[in-house]
Amino acid sequence: MADPRGFMTTPRRVAERRPVEERVKDWKEVYPGGAGRALLPIITEQAGRCMDCGIPFCHQGCPLGNLIPEWNDLVWRDDWSDAIERLHATNNFPEFTGRLCPAPCETSCVVGINRDPVTIKNVEVSIIDKAWDENNVQPEPPEWLTGKTVAVVGSGPAGLAVAQQLTRSGHTVAVYERDDQPGGLLRYGIPEFKMEKEHVDRRILQMQREGTVFRTGVRIGEKITGTQLRDRYDAVVLAIGATVRRDLPAPGRELGGIHQAMDYLPQANRVALGEEVEDQIVATGKDVVIIGGGDTGADCLGTAIRQGARSVTSLEIMPQPGEDRPEHQPWPTYPMIYRVASAHEEGGDRVYAVSTKEFVGEDGDVTGLRITEVEMKDGRFEEVEGSERVIPAQLVLFAMGFTGPEKEGVVEQLGVELDERGNVVRDVNFMSSVDGVFVAGDCGRGQSLIVWAIAEGRAAAAGVDAYLTDGTSTLPRPIKPTDRPLTV
Ligand SMILES: Cc1cc2nc3c(=O)[nH]c(=O)nc-3n(C[C@H](O)[C@H](O)[C@H](O)COP(=O)(O)OP(=O)(O)OC[C@H]3O[C@@H](n4cnc5c(N)ncnc54)[C@H](O)[C@@H]3O)c2cc1C
Ligand code: SF4
Repeated sequence: MADPRGFMTTPRRVAERRPVEERVKDWKEVYPGGAGRALLPIITEQAGRCMDCGIPFCHQGCPLGNLIPEWNDLVWRDDWSDAIERLHATNNFPEFTGRLCPAPCETSCVVGINRDPVTIKNVEVSIIDKAWDENNVQPEPPEWLTGKTVAVVGSGPAGLAVAQQLTRSGHTVAVYERDDQPGGLLRYGIPEFKMEKEHVDRRILQMQREGTVFRTGVRIGEKITGTQLRDRYDAVVLAIGATVRRDLPAPGRELGGIHQAMDYLPQANRVALGEEVEDQIVATGKDVVIIGGGDTGADCLGTAIRQGARSVTSLEIMPQPGEDRPEHQPWPTYPMIYRVASAHEEGGDRVYAVSTKEFVGEDGDVTGLRITEVEMKDGRFEEVEGSERVIPAQLVLFAMGFTGPEKEGVVEQLGVELDERGNVVRDVNFMSSVDGVFVAGDCGRGQSLIVWAIAEGRAAAAGVDAYLTDGTSTLPRPIKPTDRPLTV
């Protein structure tokens, strides 16, 4: 056990972010020197707050089943090399989750029943960042090769996790990615200020040194079809994400200046990394309206502020949640509460319980949105009479989520079965309805989180490994395809 009295004597502390006026002038992470380093002065005593409660509900909260009390104890004892070994035992990429996870482990931490929970996510990122800084993360190539080949389609966190697990098990793995660089949403969705891309780059390098081959700029379904891929490899894993964006077909939708977040953010990410993008969508000098909250909305907000938007308004149809757990979402569930991401500290207005009726414009370009307040009655949103108004906008960004994987191309060619929500159906071993074609991440689960994508990749790897060998696998299976977050 870490400090036996820590949870009573030490208050929860988190690292200070850089001052807003400084950080909005650049694209670097919001923590000075990056999250892990910023935390080092306080993290030992924070890890000491873990009370090793006996039944660690944080294990249930974390889809990866991270061994949280074990590494809290090791950090408190200053045993960082064992701490990273325990962390890597369940998580291939803790630098991604330690920065980006909404930390459902913390909302199920036992200390959190009547005090502030342990800063689990911060301990996690400190362990991995220190391990990288001390050259303690090395390639782990397999000792022997099985002679079996696997193609992974998509290089987001699910594709990377499945590929790393299978390469280390001795299978020969090629990852196909249609973008010019691997990483999926980690690279072109999530902005630098949340996670600098060097963290993705050095994992890719580690994976290459282990033997994983990356074929970028290859969209499976075009020159190479899904069926050709299945014929060439002993197994195929679909990890293509849920990239079909939700739209808002209100009058005026055709006006210029209305874009999907995932057209806007990748361009901004490329420019932040020094690339030039022709006809870039920019927020500079504009009134920006973001429709939809969530991670994507917050990422648009932080990006628009850094580009010098005149104003940024985020619209959300749901009412503003409270700051405390609602009674019907008790510990250890992940509650709907009012959360403030780093981007929300930087500016902009958050407007709740409103709906967009129309986009208004001039000369073909959007100039504003006609919105109305709404309230929930008998399970349906109803307009509040007399609340209609027009708010200015020369740039509108849709951040309303995703409805599933793209069907045309590889999905259609392979003929995999889809469920009623349009996601790829898989069995308990993460195999689709087509023999030897497996599924991992958002394309099977639906739009989700990085931690779930990594857990899916790890679990699907066990299914593939068993399929390619004698029907058994020693690889971990942290989740089943049907597992869902701890909610009520
Ligand atoms: C803007 C944004 C911000 C987010 N922020 C967070 C966050 O802070 N924390 C969090 O936990 N989650 C966040 N999420 C969600 C998280 O990023 C996803 O749940 C996660 O990336 C899903 O991983 P994946 O590997 O299944 O798919 P993806 O990351 O979507 O990767 C799929 C990959 O497949 C490739 N691909 C698709 N079709 C083909 C094809 N035919 N051939 C070759 N390649 C193909 C795509 O190009 C892509 O690279 C965010 C999502 C968005 C959109
Ligand atoms: S991956 Fe997420 S849920 Fe798991 S320990 Fe880290 S922050 Fe918590």
